[in-house]
Amino acid sequence: MPVNSFMYVDYHTHPLGHGGGRYTEEELSSFLSSARAQRICEIGFSDHEEFLTGVDETSIAAVRRRFPSLKVRLGLEISYRPGREREIAEIAARHRFDYLIGSVHDLDAWMFDHPAYEMVYRVWDADELYRKYFLVLEKLAMSGLFDIVGHLDVIKVFGYRPAGRIADYAERAIRAVQKANLTVEVNTAGLRKPCSEIYPSRELLERCYELDIPVTVGSDAHTAGDVGRDFAKAYELLFRVGYRKIAVFSQRVRSLISI
Ligand SMILES: [Zn+2]
Ligand SMILES: [Zn+2]
Repeated sequence: MPVNSFMYVDYHTHPLGHGGGRYTEEELSSFLSSARAQRICEIGFSDHEEFLTGVDETSIAAVRRRFPSLKVRLGLEISYRPGREREIAEIAARHRFDYLIGSVHDLDAWMFDHPAYEMVYRVWDADELYRKYFLVLEKLAMSGLFDIVGHLDVIKVFGYRPAGRIADYAERAIRAVQKANLTVEVNTAGLRKPCSEIYPSRELLERCYELDIPVTVGSDAHTAGDVGRDFAKAYELLFRVGYRKIAVFSQRVRSLISI
């Protein structure tokens, strides 16, 4: 199958960036123009929850009228930490979200995916670090608060890896994802990071496929130019692993569409 005939969806985008963006019709339109140029048929805005007050549903309604051929969804990416469950449930109730992405961005207040704190990796034993990360991810899955697991193996972002097989570290978390009926996203941002690899790796994606875990796709674009970035690679990977359908969401109800 030629890769350029896939049905593209981008469910992980940040119009508000890291707080510098604005949720205007113009800004959202730049994301949608970029999506249309990449032949994306459905896009979800999934800003970080700390910028939630910047989300404006009026602007979303306006761009839906302006781009009638594109399905536009409202999601949110929430940082999971054990103990935050009640706070997250309150955040989830503030808008009629189509989906919630749960992501682990920090361990014991260390923002391990942030370049400014990369030196902290040196004080960790990689084996312990991966155990800890996937334990928190398992708790994220068991919390029942989310629809999608964000960048499943983001702990590899700077290329620090344990000696053993990552699949062994991730197994319990992936089983918890299956049990919780969650969707895993294939996130192309890893290709733009030092690890130079899609999240999750092919090895972990194959395990998800064996366990019949649904997947969706996201670019993690913080600028319009990154919408749909490297999607040919992501869809080709999915197809090679065996996936023929991907998940989409409306009002937190999942359905599967053929790629
Ligand atoms: Zn994230
Ligand atoms: Zn993100």
